[in-house]
Amino acid sequence: MTVPFLEPFRIKVVEPIKMTTKAERVAILKSAHNNLFKVPAEDVFIDLLTDSGTNAMSDRQWSAMMLGDESYAGAKSFLKFEKAVADILGFPHVLPTHQGRAAEGMLFGTLVKPGQYVPNNRHFDTTQANIAEIGAYPVDLVVPEAEDSAIDLPFKGNMDLERLEAFINEVGAENIPMGMITITNNSAAGQPVSMGNIRQTGEIYHKYGIPFFIDACRFAENAWFIKQRDQDYAKKSIHEIVREMFSYADGCTMSAKKDAIVNIGGFIGLRDEELKLRIAQKLIIHEGFITYGGLAGRDLEAVAQGLYEGIDPDYLNYRESHTRYLGEVLEAAGMAVYKPTGGHAVYVDAGVTLPHIPPSQFPGAALANALYIEGGVRTVEIGSLMFGHDDPDTGEPVYAPNELLRFAIPRRVYTRSHLDYVGKVAKELMKNTDSIRGLKITWQPELLRHFLAELEWV
Ligand SMILES: *Cc1c(COP(=O)(O)O)cnc(C)c1O
Repeated sequence: MTVPFLEPFRIKVVEPIKMTTKAERVAILKSAHNNLFKVPAEDVFIDLLTDSGTNAMSDRQWSAMMLGDESYAGAKSFLKFEKAVADILGFPHVLPTHQGRAAEGMLFGTLVKPGQYVPNNRHFDTTQANIAEIGAYPVDLVVPEAEDSAIDLPFKGNMDLERLEAFINEVGAENIPMGMITITNNSAAGQPVSMGNIRQTGEIYHKYGIPFFIDACRFAENAWFIKQRDQDYAKKSIHEIVREMFSYADGCTMSAKKDAIVNIGGFIGLRDEELKLRIAQKLIIHEGFITYGGLAGRDLEAVAQGLYEGIDPDYLNYRESHTRYLGEVLEAAGMAVYKPTGGHAVYVDAGVTLPHIPPSQFPGAALANALYIEGGVRTVEIGSLMFGHDDPDTGEPVYAPNELLRFAIPRRVYTRSHLDYVGKVAKELMKNTDSIRGLKITWQPELLRHFLAELEWV
């Protein structure tokens, strides 16, 4: 196994975590209706549910928070935040939001009409749901290699450019109010998108007069992968790579809970001031005035500082190698690890790891529950529980392209020995996978069912 790049920080504040017994976990999971989203966090030993908002902030971020200017309009903290976004991402205009999905809701609510289409390499669950809620259609056009968990290629998050252009011609550009690309591609195993692919995606959208927005949550990790995997960028700084990535886009939606290394926050970055003013009307109704958008001044301070820490090459080197190490540990335990490892998470192909459980019985969720019972480790299914649904015309179930289980790593939170522990739990579990049973849904809400669904062992 490769030794990860050392943590480029030391620990100043600690948060105790508590181990439960197996018998306790069996009971806890039962009362959570077999849905790990309903398990109290204090009953989780290692929480790899998400990397979103679970980050450890730095001493500089915490001290910046003391400088928070809580003025309703034109706060100093907003100006600092606006300057950081303009400097790092290159967007002259920014609207803060309380998190990424609010940025999506404001942007789509302004641009997208019922019956229209929004292409993406692969939509994240919240962008998909925000578009569906309007009565429009989210369309996924990722390269086919993304669905093959075994092949090791550098940029499996890429947009399938031929399918994108064919799709635009098929439905007509007038029915596509905006196009997106997600970097890194969270729903496709956190795989990066190449610089050439971002540029060409932008060129295709612009050829048809379609505004191009980047779902930017993990832009710094994407830039790091470009630097590592594309020789033309090996000598460029992360800052330069980031600026080039965004130079091809008209704007972005961002969840600061990811690569801005904070606990809450988001924004819309824009070039067009007129569009900013249109979105601002919605923002003021739903989020707040345009210089705070649902955040406190101190949150804007933390984001402004965190954006710089997120593009630090030592941090990114540690981040990537730490994640890769967990991939190696899980593979050694016998799990079918998606190749290559993404930036923020390790994805295990649960369909391959538990071949005896069909997609209709959610192998990813079954594996997640088994891991929790075995060692108090919480992960999340990214498969047919999250993305499956019944076809609105035929009523037939539609399954996700892969049954993945995501081990997401909070930024700067867990050490290598925590990852070794997760590997030990996985190894123990893999000794007897036949005893892991599938799950069935006993209740589900209409949208984003995985968060609240209730399940039972088959
Ligand atoms: C997390 C995420 C979002 C939504 O952001 P929130 O801050 O959770 O609302 C959107 N897109 C991607 C790719 C994400 O990972």
